[in-house]
Amino acid sequence: MTTDLNMVIANLIDDLAEIQESKQSRMGYRRAAHAVLLLAQPVTALIQPGEDHPTIPNVGPKSLRVVREVLETGASPTVEAAVIASGKVAAIELRRARRGNFLSRAKVIEALGDDRLTGPTLADYRGDLQMHSDWSDGRLTVAAMAQACLARGYRYAAMTDHAHGLPSAHGLSVADLARQREAIDQVNRDLGDRFCLLAGVEANIGLDGSLDLTPAELRAVDLVVAAAHAGLRLPDDQTARMVAAVRTPGVHILGHPRGRQRGVRAGIMADWDRVFAAAADSRVAIEIDGDPHRQDLDFELAGRAAEAGCVFALDSDAHSASELGFVDIALAHARLAGVPAERVINCWPLGRLLEWLGDGRPRL
Ligand SMILES: [Zn+2]
Repeated sequence: MTTDLNMVIANLIDDLAEIQESKQSRMGYRRAAHAVLLLAQPVTALIQPGEDHPTIPNVGPKSLRVVREVLETGASPTVEAAVIASGKVAAIELRRARRGNFLSRAKVIEALGDDRLTGPTLADYRGDLQMHSDWSDGRLTVAAMAQACLARGYRYAAMTDHAHGLPSAHGLSVADLARQREAIDQVNRDLGDRFCLLAGVEANIGLDGSLDLTPAELRAVDLVVAAAHAGLRLPDDQTARMVAAVRTPGVHILGHPRGRQRGVRAGIMADWDRVFAAAADSRVAIEIDGDPHRQDLDFELAGRAAEAGCVFALDSDAHSASELGFVDIALAHARLAGVPAERVINCWPLGRLLEWLGDGRPRL
């Protein structure tokens, strides 16, 4: 992959944000970094080196200086000097270590349009298998999320609100899940053959690898995403935890496997090749979560999961209708990893997906 210049620049402006004393200038730099991340084109297409008065919306003159320096030298002496002067070198180094293999929007668009890359496109994609409604921490009703999926041309989707092990996200009790199932059944009656909304759940993986739902409860839902939401900053190896989770009968997808967050936390440390081998053996799909702050797995680890023989779930992890578009980021990572569409369960016809979700779980 060629250098993601927009990401390089956004990261450097982000560094500037982190070392600001005043909240106002911190916010200003954060806005500028975000604006660069969301550009549809690489900055090289917007600004020519040596151009006197380049403009990028929401990017002020001090940030534009960083843009110009990177375009001219590949680095920013201004940022490096400011970081040293701030006395926060160690904190910035930590942030830098936690930003590996994230993609800017321009890079995502490039990967989606690059026909030298094989792998799934949005046209191959039939439905999102991790999204949230107002039953847990999402913004819309299950009916509104289904309509938003239908408007994107999907054939199916899974509603995967959090289970009760995650009270901070208003996780659902088993009784709540049963009541939500009734709302989902109603959506399916209303939409008929046009769309299938699966009743899923995002089960929480405890520190010991156990889930917050019993085997019987797991069997009562159509689709189970298992994901870790705690212990994401531990320096210890957590291979056993993740292997236990993917070995749990009833789990279909290992959601946002590392639990990383851009610049904030590295996520779980594990021997991922062993986790992927266990997932391939248990026929559990590895998720590429498209949330821009997660991008989890990234293309590099996804490539290793592909080598291990895993199938993949490419999900938006949307908490609103517009966030369904995050799936572009997951698709881009899959394409950069060389994951064939055939291995992406979201690209399978509904009948094949349902068969795989069922007990038999036939091999590919
Ligand atoms: Zn989650």
